[in-house]
Amino acid sequence: MTRSIRPLVAGNWKMNGLKADLAIGSEVAKGYDRALKSAVDLAICPPASLLYLASAALVGTRIATGGQDCSMQEAGAFTGEVSAAMLADAGATFAIVGHSERRTLHGETNATVKAKAEAAQRALLVPIVCVGETKAEREAGKAVAVVRKQLRGSVPEGSTAATLVVAYEPVWAIGTGLTPTAADVAEMHEAIRGELGRMLGKAAAAGVRLLYGGSVKPSNAAELMNVAHVDGALVGGASLKAEDFLAIARAC
Ligand code: PGA
Repeated sequence: MTRSIRPLVAGNWKMNGLKADLAIGSEVAKGYDRALKSAVDLAICPPASLLYLASAALVGTRIATGGQDCSMQEAGAFTGEVSAAMLADAGATFAIVGHSERRTLHGETNATVKAKAEAAQRALLVPIVCVGETKAEREAGKAVAVVRKQLRGSVPEGSTAATLVVAYEPVWAIGTGLTPTAADVAEMHEAIRGELGRMLGKAAAAGVRLLYGGSVKPSNAAELMNVAHVDGALVGGASLKAEDFLAIARAC
């Protein structure tokens, strides 16, 4: 398929990874051969504790790193929080915001997610804004409406193709082995592109990378990555194996 947008495959390690697991990053770097480098961008989002080490280990490889979340605050008395500037200082290029685990387990609202995305952009990080419906919402036929509302609430005004990535991650597909049909992904990604067009202007929206996430693995990556308006993947479980992560990148 001819693409006008350079795909991005980002690995979300979630709360997995000790120093010894940085070897995954070096294996990915070894396998990121010339063909892959010319075709797809890769990023690894390790836990915050490993971000600096991972970024340092990947200098010169063209594999970027990202945080899995960031504070909406700049600095100060916010125990346990990590600011976007700190992520950038540790070498990150991206910050995932609004992952469904943050929305569900930490009660993050669209307004919180938007404030975090804005904080990321102020620190010159590119937020990967996650949206996605629950199983009940899909079964009720509300998936597209839910995701449109999340976009309107979570995406900063004035975002451009260079300052925003959106990841569509159906909550029911994350870590379950279940995936939507290619037709459902196509419908959703087209709706996302359309909604971003109304919010940001058509020209800006046309270049924003729209990732699909939720149980992406080597065996289903080719089908999912070939859907129109799918410009890469946000990969959880399968990003913890260099071989699988690279296989998914090749499918782009
Ligand atoms: P999964 O997770 O690939 O393990 O389903 C995706 C994600 O949560 O980003």
